Amino acid sequence: MSVPEALGFHPNYTAWLKSLEGYEEQIASFSFFPARTKGEKVEYEGKFKPLLDHFKITPYKHQAEALMLTEAGQHVVVATPTASGKSLTYQIPTLHALDHDKTALYLFPTKALAHDQLDKLKGLAKSQGLDELISTYDGDTPTTERSRLREQARCLLTNPDMLHYGILPYHDKWAGFLSRLEYLVIDEMHAYRGVMGTHVANILRRLLRLAWHYGAKPQIIAASATIANPSEHAFNLTGLETVAVTEDAGPRAARELVFWQPPLVSEKGEGRRRSANTEAAWLAGHFVKAGLKSIFFCNSRKSAELLKRYSMNYLENDQEKYLQTYRAGYTSEDRRIIETGFKQGDITVLTATSALELGVDIGGVDAVVLVGYPGSMTSLWQRAGRAGRSGSRALTLLIAADDPLDEYYLNHPDLITESKVEKAVADAFNTEIHPLHVACAAAEKPIPESEGYVAKWLEPDPNSKLVKRNSKWFYLGKYPHKQVNVRGTGGKRIVLKDGFGKTVGISDFETALRELHSGAVYLSQGDTFLVAKLDLEAGVATLLPHIEDYYTQTRSMTDIEVIDTEFQLYGVNIGRVRVSTEYTSFVKKRYFRETILDERLLDLPQVAYTTQAMWFDVSEVKFSIPPQDLPSAMHALEHTLIGLLPAFVLCERADVGGVSYPIYPANGQPLIFIYDGYPGGVGYSRAGTTVFLDWLSAAYELLKDCPCKSGCPRCILSPKCGNGNQYLDKHAAKTLAYELLSYLKQVYGKARALN
Ligand SMILES: [Zn+2]
Ligand SMILES: [Zn+2]
Repeated sequence: MSVPEALGFHPNYTAWLKSLEGYEEQIASFSFFPARTKGEKVEYEGKFKPLLDHFKITPYKHQAEALMLTEAGQHVVVATPTASGKSLTYQIPTLHALDHDKTALYLFPTKALAHDQLDKLKGLAKSQGLDELISTYDGDTPTTERSRLREQARCLLTNPDMLHYGILPYHDKWAGFLSRLEYLVIDEMHAYRGVMGTHVANILRRLLRLAWHYGAKPQIIAASATIANPSEHAFNLTGLETVAVTEDAGPRAARELVFWQPPLVSEKGEGRRRSANTEAAWLAGHFVKAGLKSIFFCNSRKSAELLKRYSMNYLENDQEKYLQTYRAGYTSEDRRIIETGFKQGDITVLTATSALELGVDIGGVDAVVLVGYPGSMTSLWQRAGRAGRSGSRALTLLIAADDPLDEYYLNHPDLITESKVEKAVADAFNTEIHPLHVACAAAEKPIPESEGYVAKWLEPDPNSKLVKRNSKWFYLGKYPHKQVNVRGTGGKRIVLKDGFGKTVGISDFETALRELHSGAVYLSQGDTFLVAKLDLEAGVATLLPHIEDYYTQTRSMTDIEVIDTEFQLYGVNIGRVRVSTEYTSFVKKRYFRETILDERLLDLPQVAYTTQAMWFDVSEVKFSIPPQDLPSAMHALEHTLIGLLPAFVLCERADVGGVSYPIYPANGQPLIFIYDGYPGGVGYSRAGTTVFLDWLSAAYELLKDCPCKSGCPRCILSPKCGNGNQYLDKHAAKTLAYELLSYLKQVYGKARALN
């Protein structure tokens, strides 16, 4: 397997990186994953064979396996790495179905992905004369087209939002399509997790009950990134037993995995290292000059923009055009131009955000650079999987950011090379979200109890329009669908206009407060603007060109106010709280050196929402710890508890937030809050409270047994800490957990035995 031409005479990436001018021993470690040049193909003799023959395809083993399972009437999920040919496993059955007057419905998490797949599927279908039967059906579909598509289309590509708001409520108009539904295709299934997954689980079950009502028995064909529990996750989303195909038998490019540690800053640096952005910029400069096709994944939009700007320091004027930024918030035209430019080779290096993590087709890539650990293994491997062209070796390079979490992985690269990916979580019967969908489902078609759609614990609320009569659920109003917010975000959109009134981008409300306040420097595709005015009423941010040598960064404070306490359990309070975040000031930072020049106060509205929380008081045991260590003990214990919650409650770490108050203003007590990071709450912290003693003792055991010296991602470091993992004390946290547990054991006499 060859190395890309860009490496010249160097036999591998590592040697090439070491030869770069200015290299300072940054390679902390590297591993090599050999290629599988051929892949394992098998003869497949089933009912899809004529189609495969028509396209002259001999399937790889995993593709054949999926096709055989589908043919046998099983529900299937293919969970293999990026670019392993997953789409074939649903494209071929789809073409077969269309040819037999059946229909197929495709679900994608974004419109962009649906449009991407539309072109590919139509391309395949053309030779069969079936391409006219395939279309997208989403918010962009003109109203005039919609009825024609309902009548004539046989394969529709849509998203969960459209299914919820635009298809299911009007299912009688869809009777023809639904009664012939052969396949329900769920692509990028791993994207439906957490709160979004919980909504999608309900929406899919609603779709299935309607399809069954019209006499169809659709089969599921799902495709997913590598996750720990594909079959379980598919079941959670659909309620149907699904067989997982997880072994990728396709060819695989050889891959070098390099861990990159920024060098120490020489002048009186006190052990400080150069920033990950500066390192990435230097590398990007070299990648552009060498013509190495690559993506630099950043963990925020700002860092993707800054990276482009910093890279300019290493490039001549005529080389700058080869490097572009790609992120959410650009207009779709701009994104399309960049995608095409990269595909055609006019652009060779992209600085990007997770917007490129899902499968938008941008052609082959040699190298992927991760500017900082992306927060989960699933995400890391998704990003890494973007690199690897057939017949050519690929590079994944992880630059450690200045964060204890990154530092930890740098010292334990084996955790990444061997570590398992995470489980995806979705809870169809979530106490807050499920009842909203039961209302929708009942409005669509009354639900007999025997259907099993409604959770057993759900009781009719006398104040609600959802009622139960003779073991059947009815909804007495119209269109409850609008009360459900599928994406969990919403609110006003802010349009970005330049001095001439031309739209240059869009933003959601909260991002606008953070990044588009007046005085903010806004970066877009390497251009910098100064925000002259943010008019929240009109929803417009006005931008002017900015030439000074600084950018801006906001600082924020999160506060929790208790609204009411519902009840207490094991000394833990459960109730409603108001979580408010306020962007209090912004700092001006010099580009590149990132020194702070100035700080200005901001006067912006708070972003606040009401949610459910649990909180507890550690005043009974606080004296077991020196007073100066209490804040960092509480903060660390809060992190450990949040990190462990998914072991007890079906949720994801990112869905839960926490704040610790050594002195809570309202009562002067030391309180730890853990809350559902979602307006209205989703029942996570409440469910955690019911197992609090077990949860706390698990936290204590983890703090006691974790082999690390003073904290690691397993015990106290969090990928989403608002304080950048500062002020954490593992040993004090262990003492605090022990004392608290002993105290609760004494009072409640139920705690598990301490060891
Ligand atoms: Zn540890
Ligand atoms: Zn924290």
